[in-house]
Amino acid sequence: MKKPVIAIDGYSSTGKSSISKVIAQKLGIIHLDTGALYRGITWFALQNCTGEDRAIDFSRLFSALPQIRLEFKNDDGELILYLNDQNISKEIRTNEVSDHVSLVAKQKEVRDFLLQSQRSLAEKGGIIMDGRDIGTVVLPNADYKFFLTASIDERTRRRYTELLSLGIEADEQQVKENLIQRDRIDSEREISPLRQADDAIVIDNTFLNKKETIDEILSYLNKN
Ligand code: C5P
Repeated sequence: MKKPVIAIDGYSSTGKSSISKVIAQKLGIIHLDTGALYRGITWFALQNCTGEDRAIDFSRLFSALPQIRLEFKNDDGELILYLNDQNISKEIRTNEVSDHVSLVAKQKEVRDFLLQSQRSLAEKGGIIMDGRDIGTVVLPNADYKFFLTASIDERTRRRYTELLSLGIEADEQQVKENLIQRDRIDSEREISPLRQADDAIVIDNTFLNKKETIDEILSYLNKN
């Protein structure tokens, strides 16, 4: 039997990645956190393609894209992101990357660069992919589509706690502003904006914990 292709989209810090990871383990399928790919390119740009003012020089980034090789390697069940053989899993979570990632992700060149590899990973089925445009653009024919949302205060609390657990210093108000700004840029961009697919199942998990959200998603998967 062909394993399912599942798309999970939604706002920042709704738990898409950590929830997808658990569902992937339960179903024995692959999990791809597409946000990590955009973060990886942003980290590369901040290292290699900035001027004196630390602003990203996009034309330099676009010509450097062919030099970027992003891979996930399995380390004891944990998928670790490598950029040209360097482990960047911690670097991509820093505030500097979060502050720039939506500007990088709105560039057509960057989206085109990542689109084909995301699609080819899903060709054989058996994948859960989380992001912003998975159900609408990357995998419009996915077997299941979910769209996660939650209140801004709850999402701020989750991201703030996550950063502290990673040992990254954070200010709660700044975390909130970053989430609001990223959601705005992601929703308003011209190419592949953050949007709920017409056939997506919407789950507001403001008052649901991680396990309850997972159970809700699994209940839809078990219906068929
Ligand atoms: O999921 P995460 O919050 O790590 O994603 C970081 C950023 O990457 C998002 O705010 C968005 O700008 C971008 N992104 C995107 N399309 C995706 C996944 C992430 O534009 N499919």
